[in-house]
Amino acid sequence: MGNDRYDVIIVGAGPAGSSAAYFCAKNNLSVALIERGDFPGSKNMFGGVIYSKPTSIIIPGFWEKAPLERAVTRYILWLMETDSVVEMGFTGFNFAKPPYNTFTVIRSRFDRWFAEQAVTAGSHLMTSTLVEALIYKKSGLNQKQVTGVILEDGSKIYADLIILAEGAMADLTHKAGMRQKITADMLTIYVKEILYLPKEIIEARFNLEKNEGAVIGMIGYPTAGAIGKGGIWINNDTISLTVGAYLNQLNKKGLNPYQLLQRLKKHPKVVSLIDGAKTIQYQSHIIPKGGYKSIPEFYNNGILITGDAGMLISGRHGTDIAMLSGKYAAETVIQAKTKGDFTKKILAGYELKLKNSFFMKNMKDNQKRGSYYKNHPDSDYLISQFINKAAYKYFREEMENQNKKIEEILTQLKTMQPISKSITDFYQGLWNWRVF
Ligand SMILES: Cc1cc2nc3c(=O)[nH]c(=O)nc-3n(C[C@H](O)[C@H](O)[C@H](O)COP(=O)(O)OP(=O)(O)OC[C@H]3O[C@@H](n4cnc5c(N)ncnc54)[C@H](O)[C@@H]3O)c2cc1C
Repeated sequence: MGNDRYDVIIVGAGPAGSSAAYFCAKNNLSVALIERGDFPGSKNMFGGVIYSKPTSIIIPGFWEKAPLERAVTRYILWLMETDSVVEMGFTGFNFAKPPYNTFTVIRSRFDRWFAEQAVTAGSHLMTSTLVEALIYKKSGLNQKQVTGVILEDGSKIYADLIILAEGAMADLTHKAGMRQKITADMLTIYVKEILYLPKEIIEARFNLEKNEGAVIGMIGYPTAGAIGKGGIWINNDTISLTVGAYLNQLNKKGLNPYQLLQRLKKHPKVVSLIDGAKTIQYQSHIIPKGGYKSIPEFYNNGILITGDAGMLISGRHGTDIAMLSGKYAAETVIQAKTKGDFTKKILAGYELKLKNSFFMKNMKDNQKRGSYYKNHPDSDYLISQFINKAAYKYFREEMENQNKKIEEILTQLKTMQPISKSITDFYQGLWNWRVF
């Protein structure tokens, strides 16, 4: 049984919440970590990979203890058309040894393990517990302070500070009036199928050394012209296949991500890789992609917002940012506790930490790139289409003059759209595709 009063209450045991709980508990604060799922991670899904550098700031040497799938050594990009694929890639053998680079993980295992670290540090974890509302008290003229939470069963728990780490939907953050209304152009929706294949078959098909992993990003064909991507992540004995795009684009084009996934599974390049694989799970999740301009109020009297709830996503980077924001929130709570002051005057230090971080700077830079894609939604699609046509032309053995072949490819490029636009599309793409 838990208490009805703690130093800090953390809502959500994803990467942001467990990180905040871990650091608060390690610093001898009493912590309630509240999760609506049956266990931490039971409701969570991503592509995906976690990043070694930021994760080792949270748990040094985590790769010796955490439930990881594979250390990624191969990063591949497919520019796809209906019946062809242009491939680009990099294999980094150094990424197979400490300190590694990225690891594929299954969130239901990783999040559970990470929350256990917070519990071992002293946090009280409450699962199958939905926080329904926040409790406020009046504090000064026109001011109010969050002092606790109300659970689904009506019971109340109080604390000096509440950290919201509730993920993308962020119901409580909205209710607190700290996040603006989210519209369909600020969200991407992804579906994922996890497919089982024996380890050895995976390694043979993807040309991998034992225990090494790969990530494949897919542009063009998978999203049928909507701004988004497909992806394959190689786990220990499963493959995660995902596809998704901006919600407003899917709506406008009448596309359904589940149908896109089924279509992707029939692409000849994918068919051969998943041949004989057994589907073990379907999942779906949104990503808050409103970017820098959509970031909420990160703090107010008695409350801090972390991770996806704070729209803290930069490209595919989310878990690392969530964990770091959880750590910064914990440091701010510890400082507030020392001063015995939980008002926004002290909590402003949290926003300062966020604003000085590498990820907030990236989010600011990505803002410009995001607007490019909004103004030119077909750029990835056009590039994929052209590059595949050009490759067919280039590689097809004909009885003709070689120079004529190159001229025809260039004419094709010019007739598609102005060359300057194609160069810009490609340049923007290199930044955007890099996220894999
Ligand atoms: C398809 C896809 C691919 C992605 N790929 C990557 C990737 O490769 N690498 C990467 O770093 N990131 C990736 N991300 C992003 C990453 O998953 C998120 O940024 C990250 O999970 C955010 O962590 P969080 O702790 O803020 O939120 P979450 O992980 O969503 O955790 C929130 C938790 O709060 C709980 N909760 C919510 N409301 C309540 C409530 N009222 N009461 C109690 N509990 C509550 C939820 O059950 C959940 O456990 C991807 C996301 C998607 C959808």
